[in-house]
Amino acid sequence: MNLERRDFLRLLSTCAGATVLDACLDTGGSVGPRDSMPPVTNQDLQAVCDTANTVTLSDMVVSAHPWPDGLDAAALIDVDDFCPVTLPGDGLDFGGDLTIDGTLRGFLIDELTATYPEVKVNLMTIANMRQNPLTRTAIADDDRYLLSRQPAWIEAVRGVLNQYPRVRIAMHGYWHFNYQQRSANEFAQYTDLQARAVMSTMHRVFLNVLPTVEPVFRAPGWVSTPGVLEYLAQAGLLLADSSGTATFQSSVPSCWRGAPGLDVVRAGPDFTEGVVKELANAALIVGHYHFTAPNVYNLGGDLGRQSALNFALGIRKITKYRIGWMSYHEAARSVALVRALRWSAALEGNTLVITLDPAGTPIGGQTLAVQNLGGRDLAVETPLGDPVPFNAIGSNRGCTYVVMTS
Ligand SMILES: [Zn+2]
Repeated sequence: MNLERRDFLRLLSTCAGATVLDACLDTGGSVGPRDSMPPVTNQDLQAVCDTANTVTLSDMVVSAHPWPDGLDAAALIDVDDFCPVTLPGDGLDFGGDLTIDGTLRGFLIDELTATYPEVKVNLMTIANMRQNPLTRTAIADDDRYLLSRQPAWIEAVRGVLNQYPRVRIAMHGYWHFNYQQRSANEFAQYTDLQARAVMSTMHRVFLNVLPTVEPVFRAPGWVSTPGVLEYLAQAGLLLADSSGTATFQSSVPSCWRGAPGLDVVRAGPDFTEGVVKELANAALIVGHYHFTAPNVYNLGGDLGRQSALNFALGIRKITKYRIGWMSYHEAARSVALVRALRWSAALEGNTLVITLDPAGTPIGGQTLAVQNLGGRDLAVETPLGDPVPFNAIGSNRGCTYVVMTS
């Protein structure tokens, strides 16, 4: 392990990327290699890592349901690689073109959101874009695309975010470029210490220029390293991963437990499942796209745009299940709130009695799912036996939801 680390450091010191990396971090003023701590720590997703409570009573199973208000499933569109770059010569628009000819205004706002205003979109945004995916070279040798050096673009994006609160910003890397591999796997070129410093630098950029940024991060090229995961755990950020990663469990926000105290909340698209199966599994159904890229999920092209419109239409047309649109942060927040609810369940005669612990937080909307309730009655109570208001809602998933109403 030590030998590998030394070899890696030697490699870094001899490649062009290391020079650029060091220069970048050294010129960051107060932000340098030693500054690897999160500027702020987000606290509100911690309960996702609380132990899940499930109670089995003969043939009945009572468990926390991830979605509020009796929703069966959740949906989200995420779009990778948003940044101020546009390279007309290469036919690439990463969101830099804010005219009606660009992908943000011309498609995401004026077409997708205009047709389906219920849709929620997470824009996975790059702090200091360096990658040209077509030529596999750096698009700049300086920080010209650093978000803080693009005040006019940032001002326009802030205007869009204010006007369309269902469009949210999330973090998607600092350079998005791996100088050694000439790939998107940015974090594979860093030591763990460098990775933490780059994460911290990126995080600060977002908090400074786009302070409504969600506490959400997707690794460029889906490559998270131990240093990245450590940073995410410490900063309380959600890892927007996918079924293509080793950290994935399901699309629903869940907890990845590394070393003791190293808990990372993760969620993201499950590329192995179809929508029908995902609905039955109460999934977070993610339509995953790119602003511009040489693939079919490219919103710069007709095929990708039609796919995104069809995704929104498909979700709208489903009537068998109740689906709510949620951003990554909202989805994880919903799971955190229901995990924070403390409860027990018992069968008293023909009545399923759910007792809420006053240490829990029934702020309303949190939902428990009951399998095989059958003809039994339902009651929700405080430990003293006082009734707690709730709604019982049947679901085509074959269970009954108990929705706390206060
Ligand atoms: Zn990307």
